[in-house]
Amino acid sequence: MLAFSALAGIVLVYKRWLHVNPTTVALSLLLLILVLAAEWGLRYAVVVSIFATAAYNFFFLPPVDTFTIADSQNWLALFAFLATSIIASRLSQRARDEADDARCRQRELEVLFRLSRELLQFESVSILLSSLPSAVAGVTNARYGLLYLIEGDRLYQAGPDTISEVEFPHLRQLAASMPNATMEGDEVEIPLRSGVRPIGMFLLRGLSLSMETADAIGGLISITIDRAQALETVTRGEAAKESERLRTLMIDSITHELRTPLTSIKGAATTLLSGELSTTDRHEMLTIIDEESDRLNQLVSEAVEMAQLDAQQVQMHFGNIHVLDLVQEAIKTSSWVEEKHPLHVNVPEDLVFRVDPALMEKVISNLLENAAKYSKLGTPITISAERQPKYLAISVADRGIGIDPAEQTLIFERFYRARSQASGTSGTGMGLAISRAIVEAHGGSITVTSQPGEGSVFTALIPAVS
Ligand code: ADP
Repeated sequence: MLAFSALAGIVLVYKRWLHVNPTTVALSLLLLILVLAAEWGLRYAVVVSIFATAAYNFFFLPPVDTFTIADSQNWLALFAFLATSIIASRLSQRARDEADDARCRQRELEVLFRLSRELLQFESVSILLSSLPSAVAGVTNARYGLLYLIEGDRLYQAGPDTISEVEFPHLRQLAASMPNATMEGDEVEIPLRSGVRPIGMFLLRGLSLSMETADAIGGLISITIDRAQALETVTRGEAAKESERLRTLMIDSITHELRTPLTSIKGAATTLLSGELSTTDRHEMLTIIDEESDRLNQLVSEAVEMAQLDAQQVQMHFGNIHVLDLVQEAIKTSSWVEEKHPLHVNVPEDLVFRVDPALMEKVISNLLENAAKYSKLGTPITISAERQPKYLAISVADRGIGIDPAEQTLIFERFYRARSQASGTSGTGMGLAISRAIVEAHGGSITVTSQPGEGSVFTALIPAVS
């Protein structure tokens, strides 16, 4: 409608007001047709060209106001006008198509790029597979995405028109035999392959894609699945190796650690059995047996506890706990600490937090005992707790011997004892490893800041919602 108004406008202006020669009129009409072809496409331009030719003939070619043409030269002019306008329209239509095509390609490239970035985020196969349909549908703006894997007839879908009745034999056959991506209506079916072996198919609804892009998406999805599977196999292998190494280490260490108390017990028992001993000596031997069997007991229970934490066999019992109660219980458990060091407790009375009380009490008492073990008699120890925006921070600070910076991360490893302590103070090297495992089971972390000769602060951060 607009096109015809413009045509009528041009005719009117030239006919009524501006008396110019027919060539100028023809050029003006041609300009209009070019603009139409560029904006609306070839079809409009051709229709308007025919009307423009008729109007040009009627109003401007002599004899004016008739469709007859007197001079044969004017016939030529008329046809030249018609031909030029149609050819020019076609050219500008082609330019338009190519621009559209380029824009489309660019969009599809962006989609591929976004998709590749998105897919690289997933590391675990199970999360990857269940997130793939929504991730691909999201990036391509499709309404519905379906991932089918031949192995195990697995199906993952995302979108409003989720299929409930699935014909697996049909899907399996389709996935196994599809050579390339195909498109029917607004549905794109993409084969997935690992090398040349078909592994499944991907289906998208509610979009239009070029087949090359669909194939490229198929390639990306196949590679991502392959990558995640390979990564998981490697990780599983490494985890098995690491767990084997730790088990051996643990057995070695336990054997080594067990030997010391056992030797003392055996020695004391032999001396006792050998006969004549004064009451004081007998008492001393029995004390050695008593203390060393306690040590043995602790060692075995710590090893078992660590193994259970490792195997994630420990049941967590969360509750909203008054942190001050927790700290006081820990002080009671490690009551010998209070006899040797003044304790300062900085915990707000109303501080309540969701933790497993038994396990967290163990962490606090481990840290407290370490603070006492590795400090001079009589030096103060401070236990503090505060609520930070997202965490509960519990810390134990001492004025003890401190830890060499090079060893500050190592001491959290199982059986690691700082070089300076390895022979001096009794210990198993397990306390901090257990504490770290417990804090991590709460989703938190444990750190130390320490200055040799000045003291250490151990801090456990527990996130708010566990
Ligand atoms: P253990 O105390 O049985 O040796 P831990 O795992 O509790 O085992 O601690 C590991 C090592 O970390 C200790 O041997 C000690 O060298 C060092 N350590 C732990 N706590 C402190 C502390 N508060 N001050 C100085 N060194 C510490």
